[in-house]
Amino acid sequence: YDNNLGFSNSKYANGVGRVPVGIGSKRKRIVVTGGAGFVGSHLVDKLIARGDDVIVIDNFFTGRKENVVHLFGNPRFELIRHDVVEPILLEVDQIYHLACPASPVHYKYNPVKTIISFCVIFSHESLTSDYKTNVMGTLNMLGLAKRIGARFLLTSTSEVYGDPLEHPQKETYWGHVNPIGVRSCYDEGKRTAETLAMDYHRGAGVEVRIARIFNTYGPRMCLDDGRVVSNFVAQAIRKQPMTVYGDGKQTRSFQFVSDLVDGLVALMEGEHVGPFNLGNPGEFTMLELAEVVKETIDPSATIEFKPNTADDPHKRKPDITKAKELLNWEPKISLREGLPRMVNDFRNRILNEDEGKGN
Ligand code: NAD
Ligand code: UDP
Ligand code: UDP
Repeated sequence: YDNNLGFSNSKYANGVGRVPVGIGSKRKRIVVTGGAGFVGSHLVDKLIARGDDVIVIDNFFTGRKENVVHLFGNPRFELIRHDVVEPILLEVDQIYHLACPASPVHYKYNPVKTIISFCVIFSHESLTSDYKTNVMGTLNMLGLAKRIGARFLLTSTSEVYGDPLEHPQKETYWGHVNPIGVRSCYDEGKRTAETLAMDYHRGAGVEVRIARIFNTYGPRMCLDDGRVVSNFVAQAIRKQPMTVYGDGKQTRSFQFVSDLVDGLVALMEGEHVGPFNLGNPGEFTMLELAEVVKETIDPSATIEFKPNTADDPHKRKPDITKAKELLNWEPKISLREGLPRMVNDFRNRILNEDEGKGN
């Protein structure tokens, strides 16, 4: 296969011929990298419900087939097992680039791969980094977007602000990141991904969109990926103490996943490059979060203090003025409304896990 653009099958996996997309209709063909993950699978549901054709690219590093299994058999849905660190040939209108080893448990063990998904795949044996996934993965998806004239949306993160010296954080803040710390494969990986996106935008005219996502929770979150909401909810359901790191006075702002998905679609469909903060401005200390989980799941739940990890940001809260004004978007679901909506999903999965162990 040779499309006269210098690409051949020897270089690209999953070669797909150029097929006219959506001629005569508004139906779009959309790629979602990381679409078998937590946020990605909810985004895919929304796009499919809207009537679009969706191709998910995922290597199942942290994603699960269960998240998209209800779409198997839908003729508008396609799933490709592929690592975005490797090039790929596709013909689509839009690319939502979510693929990334995004959780602390994973990226701290796999730093090189995090920065490059933005570049590579996790394994304890081979030191590929999150940095690698961020860089190589984003580069390949931008190269794809450039070749086919697709619009490209990057899911960056509030972590680009590091341990912020400005509060709340506006998009104009450049951040306070330790470039050589344990978190930097993720933080710097996403910062590099933003740089790449802007370079392809300015240099090659690629239509890019950049979202800076703040802590998000909801059904289908990884059960044991070490994020605070999934940890506390799973611990409360399992009748284990909730592990509060440090003194528990550090803050985060927690957004329900459907609000984020609405924001991502508004950003992709809108006319502004960004970056845009997408988060819920409600700010909670970890002790307050534990209290809400306790009220929601089990009034007898207890907490246990554990040492905090290095370079943990002390506070984080988005200023979302820009997204409100330019995208007409703001979150609708508070923490107290959102938490109960993930409890059933977590209960069922924990129950299945226990049954699987023969308990
Ligand atoms: P997730 O781990 O559930 O989803 C990431 C998906 O990417 C998984 O399905 C995983 O298998 C896939 N993936 C990882 N590396 C890959 C690779 N090299 N090739 C192909 N697929 C790969 O995480 P999520 O919470 O759904 O995060 C989605 C995106 O949103 C990520 O880019 C993350 O950095 C960003 N984000 C999320 C949050 C949050 O709180 N959930 C906050 C900020 C930013
Ligand atoms: N790429 C891809 N699919 C495409 C086009 C490009 O995966 O349809 C990858 C390509 O392998 C390269 C990256 O995207 O590694 C950047 O592509 P670009 O054309 O910008 O750069 P170049 O190939 O000239 O280095
Ligand atoms: N945290 C905690 N207990 C846990 C997991 C995390 O107290 O079981 C804290 C962690 O130290 C951090 C906050 O919760 O201060 C948010 O952590 P998470 O990894 O969820 O998100 P991020 O640090 O990336 O914002």
